[in-house]
Amino acid sequence: ATRVLSLFTPSGHPTLGNLLGALLPSARLLETGDCVFGVSDLHALTSDHDPARLRERSLELAGLCVAAGIDPARCVLFLQSNVPAHAELAYLLESTAHYGEMQRMIQFKEKSARQSVVRLSLLTYPALMAADILLYQATDVPVGADQAQHVELTRDLATRFNRKYGPVFTMPRAVHPPAAARVMDLSEPTAKMSKSIDSPGTVFLLDPIDVVRRKIMRAVTDSGTEVVYDPEGKPGVSNLLAILSACTGTPVADLTAGSYGVLKKETADAVIALLEPIQRRYADLSADPAELEGILRTGAERARERAAGTVVAAKEAMGLLSA
Ligand code: ATP
Ligand code: MG
Repeated sequence: ATRVLSLFTPSGHPTLGNLLGALLPSARLLETGDCVFGVSDLHALTSDHDPARLRERSLELAGLCVAAGIDPARCVLFLQSNVPAHAELAYLLESTAHYGEMQRMIQFKEKSARQSVVRLSLLTYPALMAADILLYQATDVPVGADQAQHVELTRDLATRFNRKYGPVFTMPRAVHPPAAARVMDLSEPTAKMSKSIDSPGTVFLLDPIDVVRRKIMRAVTDSGTEVVYDPEGKPGVSNLLAILSACTGTPVADLTAGSYGVLKKETADAVIALLEPIQRRYADLSADPAELEGILRTGAERARERAAGTVVAAKEAMGLLSA
């Protein structure tokens, strides 16, 4: 059976990129896999953060996971910091990882270049992400294309550990959605849409519906008039086509939109049709905060049980004695 793991970082309000690239593909795997999903609040500590805002965002993100279809009755849904094994295994993996391979990570280079003070945890973050995945012996990791390099590193660390200390970890693989594995910023379609970057081209899942429509209608398109999928030559149009494809489940090749104007309108309609029920479920859930707290408490208990065996095996293999 497939064992699935995916985590979402409360580093900002969740975006359409998070939804199409990871949240909805994750929810679809509930049908076939044994799933562990969560809010990676420890990852949110890798850049300057405000504690009160982190609390709010963690709950918002957990609520949006449920609203997007990650049904807590059919998976483990938890907050990463409630399971100490993540930090514990991360340290063991840091002790197998090399400084150079961490420094080479594209995301580290990009994020550190935007900051005047770089937290050490931003460099070591991929070891924590490897721990997240390997703890649960995950086989499938549904993520956007931007996380492919980190999953590849996880595989390298697992291989190195297993070879050196014994077969403790299952080899995971990244699984990307067929469309919208990399949703681009609507106002700057050569840059990834990101929740931690302030841009008018980011669609947030909780944006009011009229704001969503306005952002999409104002999306930057390209010169020319022809609607064709060509990410290199026509990044703006191709991004809208990818979003429309992911929202409707229609392959990009089968989409026919006559003009840029029609494409924008159809894309806005499709995104809104997807977001409206999610926003409604989120509002219902927010009416009773105790329900979400209960879900996360149960999730943490189950995650702790599942994670315990892997940490014990990894420590023992590395020569750490239990007393
Ligand atoms: P940050 O800017 O803080 O890194 P983010 O928007 O990249 O935030 P993450 O929490 O890092 O969000 O990622 C959560 C999941 O969403 C990951 O699986 C990631 O690959 C996916 N994802 C993030 N941005 C996009 C995007 N633009 N298109 C598709 N998937 C995305
Ligand atoms: Mg990210």
